[in-house]
Amino acid sequence: MFNDECGIFGIYGHPEASNLAYLGLYSLQHRGQESSGIVSTDGKEIFSHKGMGLVADVFTSNDIERLHGNAAIGHVRYSTAGESHIRNAQPFVVEYSRGGIAVAHNGNIVNAALLKAEFEAYGSIFQSSMDTEIIVHLLASSKEDTLVDRIAASLKRVRGSYSLLFLTNDAMIAVRDPHGFRPLSLGRHKGAWVVASETCAFDLIEAEYVRDIDPGEIVLIDKNGLTSYKPFPPAAYTPCVFEFIYFARPDSRIFGANVHAVRKRLGARLALEHPVEADIVVPVPDSGVPAAIGYAEASGIPFDKGIVRNHYVGRTFIEPKDSIRHFGVKIKLNAIRDIIEGKRVVVIDDSIVRGTTSRKIIKMIRSAGAREVHMRISSPPTICPCYYGIDTPSKEELIAAVQSTEAINRYITSDTLGYLSVEGLYDAVRQAGGSFCDACFTGKYPVDVCMKPVPQLALFK
Ligand code: AMP
Repeated sequence: MFNDECGIFGIYGHPEASNLAYLGLYSLQHRGQESSGIVSTDGKEIFSHKGMGLVADVFTSNDIERLHGNAAIGHVRYSTAGESHIRNAQPFVVEYSRGGIAVAHNGNIVNAALLKAEFEAYGSIFQSSMDTEIIVHLLASSKEDTLVDRIAASLKRVRGSYSLLFLTNDAMIAVRDPHGFRPLSLGRHKGAWVVASETCAFDLIEAEYVRDIDPGEIVLIDKNGLTSYKPFPPAAYTPCVFEFIYFARPDSRIFGANVHAVRKRLGARLALEHPVEADIVVPVPDSGVPAAIGYAEASGIPFDKGIVRNHYVGRTFIEPKDSIRHFGVKIKLNAIRDIIEGKRVVVIDDSIVRGTTSRKIIKMIRSAGAREVHMRISSPPTICPCYYGIDTPSKEELIAAVQSTEAINRYITSDTLGYLSVEGLYDAVRQAGGSFCDACFTGKYPVDVCMKPVPQLALFK
């Protein structure tokens, strides 16, 4: 149904809550560029401001000032399916029998369509096409007494991935699904509690990282402080390995390890698995940079920035229209002839999805005079779509699902092509524990969340 790549941020107990939420969202912008929103409370009333676009464009200082109170939650969204529409922007705010509540969600509920059909059969009306709205309906219909019990009972019916923030007039609640698919961290800022998808948000506001929210944990933060609940039956811990490969910011610490350091290890391992005689290692900016540093260090081949990125263009994938995506690479990247001409170039990127980007980059590098182009990818072939919140096209559109590495090498026109092995990937992420969701590379979807996955619509074009 309506899946999101998103970032969430929350703060409780600070007089500048909405201002800090704005900054927090700013640092999570890479997790979603389609819409941004902040909801705050002064203990009596809930205030909300949301809009389509980047954080910096959606909020003026007046908007922030109108978001009163010392608690706030915020959300940045990129929908991987469903409509690109303001009514799908989060945090989602509703009034129900117990008062107002806001919710911000990062993840994807795989049984959303089934639950929605169930509610609609009893006459419920949905305002948005967001899977998150299901959670609100479950909450409103729950017979449990306390808010935490209502949240726990509701989420026990939900399958899939969710890192969540709720805000009421009295409390902020953070939840991470029992599999721990998406990251969610807890921090402290001058007596206030902060929660964010990634720790880079803490660094910006000078908050101190305390710990990750545990898989299956509900954290209630209110005037009595912080209380932790573990109401869910234990489940296999399967955080998303693609957060390390591509999605998270390199300065963040997720799942117990620094993202940049992991990416460098991916690159070093790639150099061992796919060595090549070459003159220069060039990353595809920005996603390939840490792995290229690792490859260069391990191989002894000098690193150089042979491709420059125009930072004023969003990530290619934010554009929902085909025509724009096809312009994407040319608008965004340019090869530096003086660095590349006459050289045997190793080009490093984090992943190949459809193959279009790599093909265009290689063409560009050859036009800049490269003698040889050796493509190296710091993850295994992407062979299956994600149902847990990462934007991927359908299986038929994933080039590695339908073509051999040799055929991909011919298609993208590299001299040689090498992907990191699944074992190599695990070697590099070992520091963050041994278990991950690696379904995009292996097709092994974590048990019991893939009973009836709802395919994500293909917006990744
Ligand atoms: P493609 O042209 O379809 O092969 O796209 C490959 C490029 O997309 C690589 O440079 C990746 O860094 C980037 N990429 C990989 N996964 C995603 C994703 N989920 N969303 C947006 N970009 C991605």
